[in-house]
Amino acid sequence: MGRVYNFSAGPSMLPEEVLKKAAEEMVEYGTAGMSVMEMSHRSADFQAIIDEAESLVRELMHVPDNYKVLFLQGGGSTQFAMIPMNLGTKNKKADFVITGQWAKKAAAEAERFIEVNRVASSADKTFSYIPKLDKSAFSKDADYFYICYNNTIYGTRYTELPQTDATLVADISSCVMSEEIDVSKFGLLFAGAQKNLGPAGVTLVIVREDLIGDALEGTPTMLQYKTHADNGSMYNTPPTYAIYILKLVLEWVKAQGGVKAVQEINEKKAKILYDFLDSSELFKGTVVKEDRSLMNVPFVTGNEELDAKFVKEAKAAGFVNLKGHRTVGGMRASIYNAMPVEGVEKLVAFMKKFEAENK
Ligand SMILES: *Cc1c(COP(=O)(O)O)cnc(C)c1O
Repeated sequence: MGRVYNFSAGPSMLPEEVLKKAAEEMVEYGTAGMSVMEMSHRSADFQAIIDEAESLVRELMHVPDNYKVLFLQGGGSTQFAMIPMNLGTKNKKADFVITGQWAKKAAAEAERFIEVNRVASSADKTFSYIPKLDKSAFSKDADYFYICYNNTIYGTRYTELPQTDATLVADISSCVMSEEIDVSKFGLLFAGAQKNLGPAGVTLVIVREDLIGDALEGTPTMLQYKTHADNGSMYNTPPTYAIYILKLVLEWVKAQGGVKAVQEINEKKAKILYDFLDSSELFKGTVVKEDRSLMNVPFVTGNEELDAKFVKEAKAAGFVNLKGHRTVGGMRASIYNAMPVEGVEKLVAFMKKFEAENK
């Protein structure tokens, strides 16, 4: 059948160049005489891989020198606990904006360790917008202020950051390297790799150095940022192969011209799809225009049977994983960095044809 256009929300498409390069190097990496999977994480070859991965993160995201770049395990979800355990130590309190399932889960997990203040929520309209914030709802003494920057399930994203004096923390799992982010505005950023950075199994954490080292009493060694910061993400065996693929993906991002260039392509892709949704009589987007994600585009026909028919026919035509999240229904096209413009153009052509056939 050949490669399809994969609109999965995650794990998701990887650049074909990356997969081919990994295939070339699968059995023998350079002069190592073995696969990266078989290498000691203490070998010079692997050290060079992880060093290059870190240096590419720093270069592509313009990470200031007073931040650590960590490669951890446990997915984005483990950060939901690590953040309160490591950052919620002074006043044991944090503010959260509830913009969807991931923010909700992060707040619920934090609440097991510290006091959580939910300053706003868009639950009233199925998380179809980013709520306006009322500063009077903010805690005076929050250790940090938590947002989910891009809401993978509902297809919203922040275009303006909350004006807070507290340390800003953001889940950027589904938008990392898709648009420019000013790291210096945040105390901590994290991203599970499987949306925009590589395969599942590695989580990128970027954390300001002064926030490291003061974990809650009883925090397990593996859940302390200090453990990983002091050991170059190699306190124990890191997810070596996932880090290697992540490095290849970052080399690919750099070859595209860096994050700014990738952002321009992403804006172009999103515009193609949203412009069509705005002009269509059959399909419509579910998110308010000003908060639309560049990465995840949910849409519906308004008729569940027709939605199912569309997903089925799209799949047969080589556009897969378009079924929406169970809490939203309808469809969702995730158009991460690795989705080429052509994939979106072809999807829109297919949608037009489907619309004409199902008037
Ligand atoms: C996928 C996702 C997560 C969860 O990541 P896991 O690695 O599966 O734990 C968290 N936050 C956001 C925004 C996501 O898209």
